[in-house]
Amino acid sequence: PNGTTEEVSSRIVVCVRKRPLSKKERSKNDADVISTVNNTLQVFEPKLKVDLTKYTEVHEFSFDKIFNEESNNMTVYKSCAQPLVFAFFKGCKVTCFAYGQTGAGKTYTMMGTNEEPGLYALALEDIFRLKAKPEYSHLGVYISFFEIYGAKLFDLLNGRKRIECREDAKQRVRIIGLEQRFCTSVQDVFEILEQGAQARSTGSTGANADSSRSHAILQIVLKYNEDGMKNEEDPDYTFGKLSFIDLAGSERAADTTHSDRQTRMEGAEINKSLLALKECIRALDQNQHHTPFRGSKLTLVLKDSFVSVDSRTVMIANVSPSASNCEHTLNTLRYADRVKEL
Ligand code: ADP
Ligand code: MG
Repeated sequence: PNGTTEEVSSRIVVCVRKRPLSKKERSKNDADVISTVNNTLQVFEPKLKVDLTKYTEVHEFSFDKIFNEESNNMTVYKSCAQPLVFAFFKGCKVTCFAYGQTGAGKTYTMMGTNEEPGLYALALEDIFRLKAKPEYSHLGVYISFFEIYGAKLFDLLNGRKRIECREDAKQRVRIIGLEQRFCTSVQDVFEILEQGAQARSTGSTGANADSSRSHAILQIVLKYNEDGMKNEEDPDYTFGKLSFIDLAGSERAADTTHSDRQTRMEGAEINKSLLALKECIRALDQNQHHTPFRGSKLTLVLKDSFVSVDSRTVMIANVSPSASNCEHTLNTLRYADRVKEL
């Protein structure tokens, strides 16, 4: 990938990001079983015959874009998320998902680190830069940050308070009680995100979700600001909406036969939401009349982003390169493949 910005013009873009082998994997001589060439990726799956002789099964996949271990967050941003930011400023409802097994690099891609800022920070820098233009002076940037755990919503900007989502009489989905904070700088947002991340791990409601078992949703909306002119018909009018979703670990969806009941229930819920998500994105791709957004809390919350004519979706499927994760990697690639398959 060469990181140019013109590309994302279709409504759905599915990309794969392969992370480097970790120190731990390297120390265990875990092999890198993924090779990438342009938009094609091959997985060399180590297998054993009945007589225990080794052989390799090769699986090949193609995606809109593939990022290998040499790509950094800026490259991924320019190619996948920046086009969404531009669309957001044209009033579109845009969504960026990080999908994949726990440890595959979802949070590294979304949140990043101090040395390597992720898509949140890179997008916000662009957003506040664009927002400073006179033509957007009547709009304000508002942030919300919440998680979905076991089909329940928790507001991460409000001590992980339980919140509800409902469809109103006009069939708009409203999240009742969700905090929306007015922000004027990237630093503003990062202070808020830090609080949110803390709420996520320490929350006051007990029974906390390990982050691999919940979906984290960062929403950035452009609305008329306090002194901007109001829309008479809908005072809460949203001009553009950008959602970043760090999904629950996809391997959790297979926990449905786990011995622990709680784990089983969480697994079933994650499974349901990831299946519903796939169906909703497919519906978007096929311009289907019916989007099955009621299939899960996750897709219900994102209804407006799925049904809007101006919606754009990017899915980044994160994979580990290691032989030991090969099975999960193949599951991730098959899922991502089906998201777009016509
Ligand atoms: P996930 O959120 O999918 O569970 P993480 O983002 O936490 O996974 O990544 C797991 C580990 O791998 C972290 O230590 C992270 O810093 C590292 N990592 C992930 N992706 C990359 C990458 N592209 N380059 C370098 N390190 C990475
Ligand atoms: Mg994570």
